[in-house]
Amino acid sequence: MGYFGDREIEFEGRGYGSIEKSVCPRCLPEPELAKFITENARARRCDYCNSTSDVEFATHLDDLMGLIVESIETEYCRPEDLLHYESAEGGYPEDALENTWEMLNSVGLAEHIEDEVLMKDIVGLIQSDSWCSRRYYVGAEVQNLVWGWEEFAKAVRSGVTFDDLADTDEDLGCGETSYPGYMLSRVGAASLSVITAGTVLYRGRNSDTGKRFLNANQLGPPPRKSVMLPNRMSRVGVVMFYGSFDEKTAIAEIHDVGETISFTSIGEFVLQRDIPVLELATVPRVPSIFDANERHRRPDIAFLRYLAHEIARPIQRKLDGQAEYAPTQFATEYFRDSFHTADGRGAMGICYRSSRKGCGNNVVLFVTAAGVGNDDDPAEIRNGKILLLNRQSIKYVDAV
Ligand SMILES: [Zn+2]
Repeated sequence: MGYFGDREIEFEGRGYGSIEKSVCPRCLPEPELAKFITENARARRCDYCNSTSDVEFATHLDDLMGLIVESIETEYCRPEDLLHYESAEGGYPEDALENTWEMLNSVGLAEHIEDEVLMKDIVGLIQSDSWCSRRYYVGAEVQNLVWGWEEFAKAVRSGVTFDDLADTDEDLGCGETSYPGYMLSRVGAASLSVITAGTVLYRGRNSDTGKRFLNANQLGPPPRKSVMLPNRMSRVGVVMFYGSFDEKTAIAEIHDVGETISFTSIGEFVLQRDIPVLELATVPRVPSIFDANERHRRPDIAFLRYLAHEIARPIQRKLDGQAEYAPTQFATEYFRDSFHTADGRGAMGICYRSSRKGCGNNVVLFVTAAGVGNDDDPAEIRNGKILLLNRQSIKYVDAV
C-alpha cells in the first residue's frame, strides 16, 4: 500500500482527515476550542480571516480536529457501532440518524462558527457523515431525569403520600431515574454551596390590622399550629424559615394579588454560622462538550437548570398551592432528611430564584422558631441560635 493508502487508514482510525490550514480563536470563539487554539498556537496566519501577526496566535486545524472528534465521540458514535440494521424496515431507524451538520449543531459547535468555509472544512474533515447518539436506545440521561421528575411530580400531585415515597424510594415505573432519591442525589452533588456566617436575610410580615411586629417571635417563623397554608417548600404544619437576600424581594414575596394590608414589618436576620445549602438560585451553565474536565457533568447540570426553573415557577398558592407545590415540598423534605455533604453535614436549606417579576433570590432554611432569636437577648438565650434578628433594623413599609 502506498503513502496515500496509509494516510487514509490513519484518517479512518482517528476519525478525521488532514488539511493544511490554520484557524484563530476569533474565527472559532467556542470558549473551550478558542482556549485550545491559544494554548497550542503554532501559526502566525489564520487562513479564514486572513489576519496575520508577528507572534503565533492560530493553530493548525488538524490539531484542533483531534479535540473536536474526541469530544463528539463522548456523546455520539457511528450508526454501525450501535444501531441494529433492519433490512426489512429500510436500514437504521430514521429518527436515530443525524448528518454531520446536524450533529455539530446538536453539540453546540455550529452556532459559534460564522465562517462558512471553516464550517465546510470541519464537516469535510470528519470521516463519518452519519451519526447517532450513544444513548439512542436508553435515552439521554438528562431526558430520563426530566421524565423521572415529571412522573414523580404527577404521582405526588395525585395523592401518593410523602410517607409512601420517603419510606420506599419507590420506583414509579419509568426506570432507575424516577427514584426520587436518585434524582435528588444527582442534583445535590451538582450544586451544594455555603451561605456564610454574617449573611443578612430579610423577612417581612404583613399586617391588616395596623399591628407592628417587634421581635423574632413575631417576625420569625411561625409556630407549627399556625402554618395553615401550603408553601412552596413546606406543607401545612411544617415550619421553615423563608427569607430573601434583599428587602425588595422579601416584600414582593409576601404580597399576594388582591390582598389588602396596611403595611409590612420587615427585619434583618443575621446568620450565625456557615451553613450548607442546595444552590438553585444561581445555577452554572451546562459545560461545553469540548471541556474534557467538566463535560461528564453535562447531564446533571442540565437537569439542575430544569429543576431550578420548575421550583421557581409562579403559583397562586391560595388557588392551587396544595397540589402544585407537592413535588417541591416533597423534594425539599427529602433533601432535608436525606442529603449530606461530603464531610457528613446535613444540608440546611435551599436557595432559589424569586418568581416575582424583577426580584432577586430567596432561601428557605430548615430552621424553626427555636433556632431564631433577637440580637439583644441575654447571652444564654442567644447561644445556639442559627439566626438573630437585628432589632434595630426593623422597619415598617406602607403598602403600595
Ligand atoms: Zn481567523
